[in-house]
Amino acid sequence: MNQTALPDAAGASAPVQGIHLMAKPMGPICNLDCSYCFYLEKEHQFEPRHRFRMSDEVLQAYVRSYVEAQTTPEVEFTWQGGEPTLLGVEFFERVVAAQRPWAASKRIRNTLQTNGTLIDETWARFLAREGFTVGLSLDGPREVHDLYRLDKQGRSSFDAVMRGLRLLQQHGVALNVLVTVARDVARHPLEVYRFLKDEGVRFIQFNPVVERLPGPAAIALGQTFGTPPFLSRPSSPTDGPAAVTQHTVEPEAYGDFLIAVFDEWVRHDVGSIHVMNFEWALAAWCQLPATVCLFAPRCGKAAIVEHNGSVYSCDHFMYPDYHLGDIRRDSLVELMQSPRQQAFGAAKETALPAYCRRCDYRFACHGECPKNRFATTPDGEPGLNYLCPSYKKYFRHITAAMNGMAKLLAHGQPASAIMQALDGPLIIDLRR
Ligand code: SF4
Ligand code: SF4
Repeated sequence: MNQTALPDAAGASAPVQGIHLMAKPMGPICNLDCSYCFYLEKEHQFEPRHRFRMSDEVLQAYVRSYVEAQTTPEVEFTWQGGEPTLLGVEFFERVVAAQRPWAASKRIRNTLQTNGTLIDETWARFLAREGFTVGLSLDGPREVHDLYRLDKQGRSSFDAVMRGLRLLQQHGVALNVLVTVARDVARHPLEVYRFLKDEGVRFIQFNPVVERLPGPAAIALGQTFGTPPFLSRPSSPTDGPAAVTQHTVEPEAYGDFLIAVFDEWVRHDVGSIHVMNFEWALAAWCQLPATVCLFAPRCGKAAIVEHNGSVYSCDHFMYPDYHLGDIRRDSLVELMQSPRQQAFGAAKETALPAYCRRCDYRFACHGECPKNRFATTPDGEPGLNYLCPSYKKYFRHITAAMNGMAKLLAHGQPASAIMQALDGPLIIDLRR
């Protein structure tokens, strides 16, 4: 999922602007074997013994075309996988060297998303020196983290991740912890949240797991998870409604998880702990542009470039029908403005069921990610988001506090004043 905006000091997130192209320099290859990971199995889309490593030719083409495609003064590179640290620090030294010629005209930032298990002193020093932001996958305390995040031999990864976290903190690396909310993780909201707080984590993002069992289209591609629902390609094979995997969060449970964390956060931690999910919602309540593709009205601005130069419409649509071109041959601007990518982006809005169109929370939700739209509305229309019961419940629950924080910000006060307001009569004024 392409969630790249990091909160600013005021506690709001910067809107995602321009084109965003997330890179997979190691493809789907990873040293862990997390049972809910949707990307590991993309390996089956390549030949046996394929070399999953971004070449210097692809790296140079990516850096050049990505910088040249940006109209904004800032360019944000995001490195993801698979596990990008398997490439070694040397690869990222070459990344920084490739970016250097543009550093005078653009502010270049890098974000590395990692499972943290290979972070050592050398990595931590490099990431600090080059100003990388790190997205670290950590699902909570040992007993929660080890529910799903095991290595290839089925062993715990917890100690290795915690070692990485501490090294990154010691070196002052900007850090955002990504918690994957799978079925059993969802049962432990406060254990997860308080654990991260106690570990000194200040930026947290929750990502729900929603995957379906494979149908014929997925099996034909050698996949064990279902393909996303039909979007904009009439010819695209797709798996219709199917049972979800055992790791998938239950339809209402993700909302319950967010609500439990929100209730603690809004009373104690506004302004000191940045929970991205709440900041995305606050942006919507402040009538600001969406800061993450999930809650934007349209898709289409956040593509991926694989290790071999192939560009796809989105991280969740890395399938042959969503292959846009090759970064070495094609103009990135033309690929992103192509009728195929434009149709992909517009389909999020045009395919929205009537139930969503008249929903009170459409302004904050926009039907969330199309890959999760395989449920049916109460009146029988297909294309409803599987997580709709979660979102309706969550958005309803946070409305009063969000209205309060939006009003505080509009009056030049910090959103954190909501914490006092919730204890006194001010909340009544804010609700007017
Ligand atoms: S909360 Fe449900 S009905 Fe409302 S926009 Fe989101 S998915 Fe649609
Ligand atoms: S399909 Fe759209 S909302 Fe979902 S991850 Fe891709 S760009 Fe974001």
